[in-house]
Amino acid sequence: MTSTEAVSGRSAVVTGGNKGIGAAIVQALLADGHRVASFSRGGDAPEGALGIACDVTDGAQVEAAFKAAEEAHGPTEILVANSGVTKDTLILRMNDAEWDLVMDTNLKGAFRCAKRASRSMLRRRWGRIIFTGSVVGLYGSPGQVNYSASKAALVGMARSLTREIGSRGVTANVVAPGFIETDMTAVLPDEVVAGYRSSIPAGRLGLVDEVAATVAFLAGERAGYISGAVIPVDGGLGMGH
Ligand code: NDP
Repeated sequence: MTSTEAVSGRSAVVTGGNKGIGAAIVQALLADGHRVASFSRGGDAPEGALGIACDVTDGAQVEAAFKAAEEAHGPTEILVANSGVTKDTLILRMNDAEWDLVMDTNLKGAFRCAKRASRSMLRRRWGRIIFTGSVVGLYGSPGQVNYSASKAALVGMARSLTREIGSRGVTANVVAPGFIETDMTAVLPDEVVAGYRSSIPAGRLGLVDEVAATVAFLAGERAGYISGAVIPVDGGLGMGH
């Protein structure tokens, strides 16, 4: 058995795996031979993955979704907490509901899933926790005080998890995409996208597969000594942050 074959067949959960970056992550993990459950509110999933309806803002739904995933695929070994929303507006207009929704989905949703997945990972003494952060978590972005704060906080969570459970074979990292072509960026006005493009050293927006390849690497056996890291996939946009 080669080392590549030896790493196949892990039980993986991807939140927000039904579309965009998450769907590409699901496909990359399936291609690596993992058994993948995809959580989203609608419960749809790319072909080959087990779709499970789960709103990550609801603790009971998260618990039930992990139970269903583990009944089908065994104890969770890989978690990609990828669900995310934006509610952009300038701070003077941002209301508590806009702050709370983004925090509850992007940060507390990731916490709920990481907590539940850690239980299985600690028992197995092996785990990979990967949070989908964002370049704006450390770079900042006008109109995204809520969103960038939620993504920056994932860095603290990954690093604290690393210190807390790193000695038990569990790694926790953040993949920080820059501007990637998905539904989330499709809603941006053309002039905003052109502005971003001109500030990205690579001169283009990123592709979902470029993010997925990085996540799949971190989920694998060969990334076992990488933890508490923030890995940018941003064409150089966030350099130095
Ligand atoms: P999409 O809007 O295409 O996908 C967002 C995903 O999150 C969907 O699968 C959605 O599923 C899921 N989701 C949202 N709310 C919930 C919820 N309450 N419970 C469960 N799932 C939920 O966005 P992207 O693919 O672009 O984004 C994926 C991740 O990447 C996000 O965390 C985003 O912040 C991050 N990111 C994206 C960038 C980009 O340029 N596109 C850049 C940097 C980071 P459903 O609505 O069906 O429940």
